[in-house]
Amino acid sequence: MTGDRPDRPVAVTRSSLPPLEEYVEMIKPLWESAWLTNMGVYHRQFSEQLKNYLHTPNLELFVNGHMALELALQAMNLRGEVITTPFSFASTTHAIVRNGLTPVFCDINPVDYTIDADRLESLITPRTSAIVPVHVYGHICDVKKIADIADRHHLKVIYDAAHAFGEAYDGQGVGLFGDASMFSFHATKVFHSIEGGAVTFRDAALAPVLYELKNFGITGYESVDSVGANGKMNEFQAAMGILNLRRVDAEIKKRGALAARYRERLSGVRGICFSPENPRIRYNYAYMPVVFDGYRKERDQVFAELAAHDIHARKYFYPCINSYRCYRDRFDAAATPVAQRISRQVLTLPLYAELEPEIVDLICDLILR
Ligand SMILES: *Cc1c(COP(=O)(O)O)cnc(C)c1O
Repeated sequence: MTGDRPDRPVAVTRSSLPPLEEYVEMIKPLWESAWLTNMGVYHRQFSEQLKNYLHTPNLELFVNGHMALELALQAMNLRGEVITTPFSFASTTHAIVRNGLTPVFCDINPVDYTIDADRLESLITPRTSAIVPVHVYGHICDVKKIADIADRHHLKVIYDAAHAFGEAYDGQGVGLFGDASMFSFHATKVFHSIEGGAVTFRDAALAPVLYELKNFGITGYESVDSVGANGKMNEFQAAMGILNLRRVDAEIKKRGALAARYRERLSGVRGICFSPENPRIRYNYAYMPVVFDGYRKERDQVFAELAAHDIHARKYFYPCINSYRCYRDRFDAAATPVAQRISRQVLTLPLYAELEPEIVDLICDLILR
């Protein structure tokens, strides 16, 4: 760092990588077996290790998180309407729509930006079949209230847990809530397998269904029983995942220390809001969202000022999904005013294990200035 500029551009995240030699050692056997994909040795190992790490007995791997979510929804045999949040990544709603289902947008709560469980019931109709909430930024949804509503109305709950890898609520692995949860192992996530994803699920009977759906619906050499897709994770991905899983706890610890540093410097400052940390949640510190309540201009000014110093925060999530060009004609984004407001005020600051504490200090200095 020289003066008030980092030596190289700082992005919002940076993929963690194992030492190259470790990965090379790991993939050497693949040259011997020539078994590169289609549920090989590493696929099996990775899957077992993840069940252990996430404390979930049922888990299926996928080529990426989006395919995992799309096929999990397909496996549930849903129809009609699915209630979800507009404050998420495109994938969440796209997975619903690509299943031929109708998304119904529920507003978020202004405290932790997860789906507002108190509004859910007012959106349930005779056509509703499921709820797809998002543990956004790793803030765990009001899982108890959502379970209660879903039980009373006989709805499935499929969590988009893309941001919540390794988290726990009251000591319970986050993948144990709802009927199923999707995790993303994309290179930009806290834990990654280059691209990759998994679904954890409650009903063990779903295992062969998910397996079939990710493998074209093939059930035998001469039989195809369902309209599946190609959602298989390959051996190179699984090898990366196995190596990164060994390091993820240390990385989360480093992220936690940096997140605390941000909070210490920026909390209590007028115009800057953080979600309170919930002591019942074990966090993974996936993101560092900060809300500037001086409205959009202020958020955009901070974004531009940081960018001028080669520090690239993200307006994550802006715009809201119900404002996308592909959806805005069908939905009224004004019906989810909290999501609209937060998306205009939020900025996600750089946070990754190898981020230097001095850069965190610089970012805080620039914001406070
Ligand atoms: C990353 C992400 C996804 C999609 O995961 P991929 O692995 O990139 O396909 C879905 N939902 C949310 C909220 C995400 O952040």
